[in-house]
Amino acid sequence: MNRLVFPGSLLGKEEAYSAGPNAFVDEQGSVRAESVGVSLLSNEKYEASVRRLSPSKKWIENGTIVIGRVALLKEQSALIELLEGNFKGEQRVMPSLYASLMIFNISSNYVESIKQELRLNDLVRARVVDVKPYNIELSIAEPELGVIKAFCVKCRSPLTLLGSGLKCLSCANEETRKTAADYTLH
Ligand SMILES: [Zn+2]
Repeated sequence: MNRLVFPGSLLGKEEAYSAGPNAFVDEQGSVRAESVGVSLLSNEKYEASVRRLSPSKKWIENGTIVIGRVALLKEQSALIELLEGNFKGEQRVMPSLYASLMIFNISSNYVESIKQELRLNDLVRARVVDVKPYNIELSIAEPELGVIKAFCVKCRSPLTLLGSGLKCLSCANEETRKTAADYTLH
């Protein structure tokens, strides 16, 4: 499968593949990427290589606004599946499928429990605050950032914003989230 890789990303084992363009063999005999791009494994040539992305495609950077889905909730952080990224109106390429959102980047107020602000499968609008080769950090603390679509934990129906809380119109369950200011528009 073609996937986005960073310098050092594992492409394959030397027994199975030789190193093609933009790839190298490390001391352990693994074929690794030499540059950022898309991995290509050729089963005809037994060659692992990297196709560099065209220079016109820009990566996400600090300040990029992303839309993502809450994929995993932990005590102190959430894992966000990245769906799209945009920087000043320009589409951005994601170097990774996932980013992390730490509890202290959820709100400008103290957050006691992450589950009061986010739930699995919620859609969020977030800002990229740090990009590292193996980790992207997000923040939803600003008013225009946060959950843009939330789903009832009991029946999975979309929740409606009523006053300052969210309510399920199907089963009357009431929930809370760190919503984006324009939550009702989605
Ligand atoms: Zn419900």
